[in-house]
Amino acid sequence: MVKVTIIGASGTVGKNVAFQLAKENVIDELILLSRQKSHQKVCGEVTDMYDALAAENIDSKLIPTYNIEDMVGSDIVLITAGVSRKNNMTRLDLAQINSKIIKNYSQNIAEYAPNSIILVVTNPVDVMTTIALEYSGFDKTKVIGLGNHLDSLRLKNLLAKHFDINSGEIHTRVIGEHGDHMVPLLSSTTIGGIPLKYFLKHQYLNINQMVEKLKKAAENIISKKGATEYGPSFAIGNLISTIVNDSRKILTVSTYLEGEIEGVCDVSLGVPVILCKDGIKEIVPISVESHEKNEFFDAAKTVKECTDKIRCMLNNS
Ligand code: NAP
Repeated sequence: MVKVTIIGASGTVGKNVAFQLAKENVIDELILLSRQKSHQKVCGEVTDMYDALAAENIDSKLIPTYNIEDMVGSDIVLITAGVSRKNNMTRLDLAQINSKIIKNYSQNIAEYAPNSIILVVTNPVDVMTTIALEYSGFDKTKVIGLGNHLDSLRLKNLLAKHFDINSGEIHTRVIGEHGDHMVPLLSSTTIGGIPLKYFLKHQYLNINQMVEKLKKAAENIISKKGATEYGPSFAIGNLISTIVNDSRKILTVSTYLEGEIEGVCDVSLGVPVILCKDGIKEIVPISVESHEKNEFFDAAKTVKECTDKIRCMLNNS
């Protein structure tokens, strides 16, 4: 039996992931945990989802609750609770607010679901992944942040549209920070197994413009419709189904580094990993060009500075 808890189920990402997982029908029991004040909203969402699932003859079990103890026995706990960045907020402002929420829930998870895998979605996700790791006390293979997998899907989309090729033919990856310091690995991108550089000989691509578009992808969606929902939900669905099915796919997630990639230590960043039923099986060694390596170091510096400030704040509170 597979049990998944979504913390922050009243939010845009939380409820969309719930529906996505229910539709996939790979989870036996889905706990939709919210604050008490949002419980009625989640109950309404669940009733609405059941109506849709009946049309597909899917009998998923969805349990709306505000009782933290209902997560007992979860295999995976997803944290989507937290505020989104507003225009007047710096990344540190956001981290200060959300880290208190992540600290609290990570301690709850350690108490009520000590054998689970934690998936962190709340932003700034790389900083929050380290906070979840430290306050849950879990092994680092069990604490995973979503960010660069979504960025990689966005890059895949941009390349597919540019070359007018089925997106399934594009193999690409974004590592580093889920934010301004993301590092698109164009040097190792392939289309139909052929390195991108060969395509560039025949068809012009303004790489700087495309990378800028990639970095602004979330901002662009949020400015038009207020939030991102389908992209993150499907990206999280990929991670969860890979874990549940023990698929051992190579996906890019945020994980705490101890020198595995370019010697970077004591910071969580997006890197390719093999995902399996126990969480991260292995960080995949990558070979990058020197400018990509420098960008990765910049990402590490930026995220570590913010993480250290947050650690200090939480220690003193
Ligand atoms: P949202 O619609 O505003 O939902 C926020 C959720 O967090 C709600 O369930 C809310 O509960 C809960 N929450 C807020 N403050 C809380 C607190 N102090 N204690 C407990 N729960 C609290 O936001 P969203 O669009 O779902 O985004 C949620 C988070 O995911 C944000 O940090 C966002 O930046 C991040 N995100 C990350 C990615 C990624 O790729 N990593 C992608 C998209 C979004 P109430 O309903 O009770 O207020």
